[in-house]
Amino acid sequence: MSINKICVVGAGTMGNGIAHVAASTGYRVTIVDVNENALKKAVSTITGNLERQVKKEAITADAKDKALSMITTSADLASAVNHADLIVEAASEKLEVKQAIFKNIDEAAEPTAILASNTSSISITTLAAGTSRPDKFIGMHFFNPVPVMKLCEIIRGLATSDETFAATRDIAVALGKMPVEVKDYPGFISNRVLMPMINEAVYCVMEGIASIEDIDTVMKLGMAHPMGPLTLADFIGLDVCLSIMEVLHDGLGDSKYRPCPLLRKMVAAGHLGRKSGKGFYSY
Ligand code: NAD
Repeated sequence: MSINKICVVGAGTMGNGIAHVAASTGYRVTIVDVNENALKKAVSTITGNLERQVKKEAITADAKDKALSMITTSADLASAVNHADLIVEAASEKLEVKQAIFKNIDEAAEPTAILASNTSSISITTLAAGTSRPDKFIGMHFFNPVPVMKLCEIIRGLATSDETFAATRDIAVALGKMPVEVKDYPGFISNRVLMPMINEAVYCVMEGIASIEDIDTVMKLGMAHPMGPLTLADFIGLDVCLSIMEVLHDGLGDSKYRPCPLLRKMVAAGHLGRKSGKGFYSY
């Protein structure tokens, strides 16, 4: 099936990045949010990011203007999704929020439209089961910042059809991303591999094996990671890390995924990383 018009639901960090790459690669895109301020902020963030690309001579001023002309915003979900061929949901990471959004999208969208979620940790199969078209439901997991990061995990729910998978993989390529096919299991690939590493680094801190800086140095200089796991945890948010560990622990039922007690304690104290000014490091 051909995809010409994209609707992005949720205008936050990920939604504005997805809209940015869609508009820059020639797709008409409507961004929807319940919060009018989030919509205004998304357009100003995209404008600022495109202007930065012009300054770096990565794109021309004409390309920036063309991309901006492809974007519209709306607070009315039903009318925005009405003529879209692909709807990518990037709203808050809460099951009830996403289920309610997909119920509304399912009712308003064309029967042929593909429904995708950018969730980091919620089961695609569960979200799909709440719609009348689980065969046309799929995960499109982009990475932050979307205009920079090349990866897109494409997650097949239990009922996702081959046709939906192929169309979604093709659109990811058209958006300039490298798609990777993943079956729907907790954490997909990215968080299944990354979060236990971060969790283990937190155990090393808790057990006093080495200093925070030295644990990060080992992974940077010994494993060529661009950033140590504790710096990365602060960047992601310790609350987000904890909730993903809980998803792995609950979903896979193996004690090896138990969240480190120090991670729980830091979240309880409000030491969430960069966003709260304090995590493993101070900001
Ligand atoms: P965010 O908090 O920056 O933005 C979420 C937006 O959703 C907000 O603007 C909010 O107003 C909007 N929203 C909430 N309820 C809505 C509704 N009913 N209808 C329309 N809009 C609604 O969040 P984010 O960081 O952009 O994350 C969005 C999704 O992407 C989450 O599922 C998250 O797990 C996933 N994700 C995030 C990252 C990341 O690094 N931030 C990376 C990959 C995936």
